[in-house]
Amino acid sequence: MKTIVYTLFTLLTISLISCKKQTKGLALNNTPHKIKHWSYQGETAPKHWAEIEANTECDGLHQSPINIIHTHTDSVKNRSDLKIHYSPSTYIEKVNNNGHSIQFDFEIGDSIFYKNDIYYLKQIHFHEPSEHKINGIIYPIEIHLVHINKHGEISVLGILGEEGNESQLFEFLESFLPLKNGDTKYIHKKIDLSSLFQHSKDYYTYNGSLTTPPCTENVNWILFKKPIILSVEEILKLKNNMPVNNYRNEQALNDRTIRYHY
Ligand SMILES: [Zn+2]
Repeated sequence: MKTIVYTLFTLLTISLISCKKQTKGLALNNTPHKIKHWSYQGETAPKHWAEIEANTECDGLHQSPINIIHTHTDSVKNRSDLKIHYSPSTYIEKVNNNGHSIQFDFEIGDSIFYKNDIYYLKQIHFHEPSEHKINGIIYPIEIHLVHINKHGEISVLGILGEEGNESQLFEFLESFLPLKNGDTKYIHKKIDLSSLFQHSKDYYTYNGSLTTPPCTENVNWILFKKPIILSVEEILKLKNNMPVNNYRNEQALNDRTIRYHY
């Protein structure tokens, strides 16, 4: 069982860093053509991703992020679909500046039980400002906690952050910064992420995609309604280690339903 899970985690890691591999491949081929690689600005900004990144679903009809209009959601007075099993003895394996975000990778430990399946926490990363909006409101920061099950399916917990008092959790995470583009630090330290969920129980769910190429669809999105609080300095420290405005623009909802679980 553990071997299968490790294999799946490895596969996910490969897919998440595939863009990086393509860049390396180009350098090795010594091609005279400068092939464009996705970014958040200029000719390779999100609106061009579908053209410049081959074999993506970035022009699909079930994409993320979206603007959640609360009055347009289906309310469900039931939160039993989601159970969070986060443990204080989970280890952060490493932190990496992948040129798009700051990403912390985890050893097997934290998991969620969602729609009758177990999804293991693989990595967390950040967007500044937020990608999802609630009632049109953009938040200063959004955290994505990426989980994968044994079939390779993905569930992402999205947590919005707004400015206020300092967060001890962010003090700890940011103690490994600064980190230059492409750099990795190995950490192997215990972390308790459960404080992220202490004040926010109600959540929205919908069927969406990864918000970066390959924009893979059929991702279960679970976005908590109430933002967490962190300080302006903590937000700025993350911001200074990531590309400017590393968010994808709002995508059309199309035929999808958003549920509000309370
Ligand atoms: Zn993300």
